[in-house]
Amino acid sequence: MEDCIFCKIATGKIPCAKLHESKEILAFLDIAPANKGHCLVIPKKHLETITEIPDALLSKMITAVKELTARIDRALKPDGFNIINNNKKPAGQLVPHFHIHVIPRFINDGQEITWKANTFDGEYMEKIRQIILTN
Ligand code: 5GP
Ligand code: ZN
Repeated sequence: MEDCIFCKIATGKIPCAKLHESKEILAFLDIAPANKGHCLVIPKKHLETITEIPDALLSKMITAVKELTARIDRALKPDGFNIINNNKKPAGQLVPHFHIHVIPRFINDGQEITWKANTFDGEYMEKIRQIILTN
């Protein structure tokens, strides 16, 4: 896709700090990291959200995420990780090219990845469960 920053990275038109590359996948350091080692795993093909990713490709991506996480764990010894994928703008997806964040976390790193918890009653929960199951 012409205007997509991650397509440009995938085709080498703009540089990145590459960590892993295969025929279909690229992983590189995030340019504005939450912490040291924060990186992104992307498909080279322009696909926007998780439901568009073929299963075989998604499987390869999650394997790459796992391997990178293990590698960063050995290298930087963080205290934990967040593995995050935002889908669509209202969910915080700023770059509309599918990507999985690998974010090393450190005790007292000052980062917050959180949401406001709702309390739904049992009847409403069951209604939602049924709607999901019948679609
Ligand atoms: P999103 O909010 O879409 O889930 O995350 C997009 C991420 O891409 C952000 O963390 C942002 O810092 C990163 N990013 C945006 N543009 C570039 C770029 O040109 N190079 C790299 N390496 N990361 C980028
Ligand atoms: Zn793209």
